Amino acid sequence: MLKVHSVESFWTHDWPWIRFVVFLQWCVFKCIYCENADTIPMEWGKEMSTDELFERVKKTVPYFGETWWCTISGWEPTLQAKELIPLFKKLHEEGINTCLDTNGWIWNDDVKELVEHTDIFLLDIKHIDPEWHKKITWQDNAPVLRFLDYLESKGKRVWLRHVLVPGYSDQMKYFEEMGKRFGNYKCVERMEILPYHRLGEYKWKALGWKYPLDGVLPPSNEVVDQAKKILEKYFDKVMVR
Ligand code: SF4
Repeated sequence: MLKVHSVESFWTHDWPWIRFVVFLQWCVFKCIYCENADTIPMEWGKEMSTDELFERVKKTVPYFGETWWCTISGWEPTLQAKELIPLFKKLHEEGINTCLDTNGWIWNDDVKELVEHTDIFLLDIKHIDPEWHKKITWQDNAPVLRFLDYLESKGKRVWLRHVLVPGYSDQMKYFEEMGKRFGNYKCVERMEILPYHRLGEYKWKALGWKYPLDGVLPPSNEVVDQAKKILEKYFDKVMVR
């Protein structure tokens, strides 16, 4: 059984094709800007079998054909990798593309097998510097970087994402560092900058949690442009979402 937060059967936001998105419950990070804090606790969410989910995706296929993608998204899908393997296998048998939206932190044999059945990875690089990464997520970034190395060794398709938060992940020297470190990776098809926004704040407050970024405003266009220009020196495709 999978712990599911919600399902979106027609998702066009931040993606070039139409996709069916499953948001799973539970995360190992607690990012200071998490926009869906209600998905972090493990004990919440509803249980759904992989068969049930598969049937829901399959029903939509006749409408969308080859452009149809199924994405398993946060909050951290690899925590439920074992249950996702049979789902992805069945989706591939039906000719449906699979995508994993992950923070890349969990590593075990199930994740390794899930990688084999995944077509595209949306991988968050919260911060390239370990100390800043801890300040943002409470966890070390070494597993994330190892995961990306593994995807490179497997020749997988990866879209990297970086949330730009003023005062936390907006230091230009680290954009240079990301470029130097990942710019030569063949697996990285694009780099995306996601400017921080405050849309998730009300969820933290509804949970009775203190919002860590109280008083922090979204970045200015100038800062985002500056970061984009740096990344463009290293990546062919840089997008701002
Ligand atoms: S990895 Fe994603 S879901 Fe998990 S806490 Fe961070 S932003 Fe939220």
